[in-house]
Amino acid sequence: MTKKLSRREFVRTGAAAAGLAAASNTAFGAAPTVLTPQSVKPVVISSGNGNTRKNGGTETCVERAFRMITDGEDVLESLIAGVNIVELDPEDSSVGYGGLPNADGVVQLDSCCMHGPDKRAGAVAGIEGVRTPSLVAHAVMQSTDHHLLVGDGAQSFARNMGFEIEADLNTELSRQRWLEWKRRADPEHYLDPRERAEAGYKAGLQMVREGLIEEEHFYGTINCDGIAPNGDICGVTTTSGLAWKIPGRVGDSPILGAGLYVDGDIGAAGSTGRGEANLYGLCSFVIVEEMRRGAHPKDAGMEALRRVKENTVEQRLLNDRGLPNFGLSFYMLNKKGEYAGVAMYADEQSKYAVCTENGSALVPLEPFLDGRSTDD
Ligand code: ASP
Repeated sequence: MTKKLSRREFVRTGAAAAGLAAASNTAFGAAPTVLTPQSVKPVVISSGNGNTRKNGGTETCVERAFRMITDGEDVLESLIAGVNIVELDPEDSSVGYGGLPNADGVVQLDSCCMHGPDKRAGAVAGIEGVRTPSLVAHAVMQSTDHHLLVGDGAQSFARNMGFEIEADLNTELSRQRWLEWKRRADPEHYLDPRERAEAGYKAGLQMVREGLIEEEHFYGTINCDGIAPNGDICGVTTTSGLAWKIPGRVGDSPILGAGLYVDGDIGAAGSTGRGEANLYGLCSFVIVEEMRRGAHPKDAGMEALRRVKENTVEQRLLNDRGLPNFGLSFYMLNKKGEYAGVAMYADEQSKYAVCTENGSALVPLEPFLDGRSTDD
């Protein structure tokens, strides 16, 4: 069942919230306003690319989603319409069309979505040929008894649901980047598989250091979560996954509890960054459980990062300081409309997107560890 909030209800709810705030300020001085699920201020948050990409249009992901939510559209449908902007943008090489391909040069996409009030979920992994995997994940949620379809099966399902299947989702940019990686990573064809995997990972990181691909696009994803004035809360995550991955590799993004988890009574959490680190700890589920125990979204996210750090013991994943040598970020939103974005490391570029009634902004991610992930 889809719950829509009419414009009139939205305005009424907003007016009630404003009245409550005004009343508490007048009668009780500066006491904080208590927001009930009936009077929560709507908000949409996402990874940073949710407020930079417009794909030639006028709105970013968080702006579109926020507008639709406040127009009374279903929260999940609004969030998906938002991430569609990024999926369809050929210049975003981390999501959807033009996402960096796998080691064979094929773009394979992952996505999942969760509907808080309806308590339903859908996901696809390793799907090829569809620019908007988030819409296929939504169709899995809406039209099947299942939660996750993968590979060829996911593509057949999409075809049967009327999605256009394209032969190749590479853009000229993503293909050129793949060719460059191939040239560096696989100069000989018959390397020992372990050596080859390490060479591939190192070649990718070197391309990040040289500025050929942005770090967030070596991994790269969009997670977007939102809440309506009536407390409806949903989330979606969509990605092309790790650049140059082994064909068939599935990361955290389409896995419920890892790339995204929503409990309609508690809140939503999603992730970008090294999927393997998140998958090992099912961090989005952990974060929502921390929020269930009363933790603020920021503290819940920090707890997940603490666990990831504790679980990172393999030498190849540690920098010279003995700390994780990768990036991982979490975005959290609770039922009261409180939100946060945290990252294993953050510099001045590390931001996440927020859209409220005051407009959209990029907000600094809070770092768990000082310094950078790399040694230099
Ligand atoms: N988490 C995604 C994955 O591992 C990639 C990313 O978010 O950067 O597939």
